Amino acid sequence: MVTIVRKKMRYDYRKYLLIILLFSSFSFSVGVSAQPLPQTAHRAKNVIYLIGDGMSLPQIYGAMLATGQDLSFKQFPYSGIVTTRSASNEITDSSASGTALSCGKKTKNGMVGMNPDSIPVKSVLEVMAEQGKMTGVVVTSYVTHATPAVFYSKVPKRSFYDDIAEQLLNSDKVNVIIGGGRKYFNQRQDGRNLIEEMQNKGWKVYDTLAGIDVACRKYAVLANQGHMPSVAMRGDFLPNATKTALQTLSKNEKGFFMMVEGSQIDFACHESDSATMVAEMLDFDKTLRVALDFAQKDGNTLVVVTADHETGGLTLIDPQGRYSSPCFAFSTHSHTCLPVAVFAFGPGSDQFTGWMDNTEIVGKILNACGLDAMEATRETRQDMEPIRENFDSKRE
Ligand SMILES: [Zn+2]
Repeated sequence: MVTIVRKKMRYDYRKYLLIILLFSSFSFSVGVSAQPLPQTAHRAKNVIYLIGDGMSLPQIYGAMLATGQDLSFKQFPYSGIVTTRSASNEITDSSASGTALSCGKKTKNGMVGMNPDSIPVKSVLEVMAEQGKMTGVVVTSYVTHATPAVFYSKVPKRSFYDDIAEQLLNSDKVNVIIGGGRKYFNQRQDGRNLIEEMQNKGWKVYDTLAGIDVACRKYAVLANQGHMPSVAMRGDFLPNATKTALQTLSKNEKGFFMMVEGSQIDFACHESDSATMVAEMLDFDKTLRVALDFAQKDGNTLVVVTADHETGGLTLIDPQGRYSSPCFAFSTHSHTCLPVAVFAFGPGSDQFTGWMDNTEIVGKILNACGLDAMEATRETRQDMEPIRENFDSKRE
């Protein structure tokens, strides 16, 4: 049920100038035309799954309006609308929506990779690994943060970062993982050094993208103790990390599955910081460009772009009511239940149209690869017991 609240929208007058400022700050071109890409009609061998954390139409269209650029989103031949509610809340958090996007199952806010009864569920990354595909996860948050974690980890609370790191160490399904969060490996409460343990288990562990042996089949790049810095500081880390991972994963004969997250669109929107939000959107768009360029050349790669939820209750208003000078206005520091968009290109992309729930996306990805979605994502793992913990739905 929706409660209608008639409340004056909170906005910051300093942001009125943003559109003009952003025109001057982001004058570089990403070289994008709005022509739809040509389609192919066979099975996908590779999948690149891109998630813009906190990104709905206001973030996408606002970034276009603020910069005067047509972003890559306009090039995707198929798009649809995605609802995001969780099993516990009309407004989801990133772990519940991430679990829906990775495992095709609803869960309660706060839970990672398990159903509401704490039964672990299989992720699309794990299914793909079982098919002989190589897998990758590339983010700008901790690699143990909710969105990356839902692809390889099962914990009842998203804040169990030390446990998530340990599950990554032991994962035989992840080939490449790139992002921040090194502290959960080398400054742990249990005193263990998971970086050494990873090396002993056959991982190569790097702290920067420079000097990576892309022929190596299992490596982690833990490029910062905490989250990666915001885009103004980290530069082209995300598009470069995506290129690096593609070099490794595309060597695999049976193909690959890769998830890439624009993690910090959400961070900027929690802070009502529209300038950083636009910069993070442009960084994500540059990363989309890398994925689309690869997919166009390859011809066997499905690219799916979506979001876990909207953050900030962002809208574009003319505060004078003249319908002429739109500016950014955030209405909350939290998430909202606004639906998000999905965009797709490549084999099987024609399924990604109309109105769908976030739990349906994984099935469509598996179908595009010629896999039986029902069989591949069976709810329980025979070898895993339910994990019982007190559930806390508060945002971590
Ligand atoms: Zn999120």
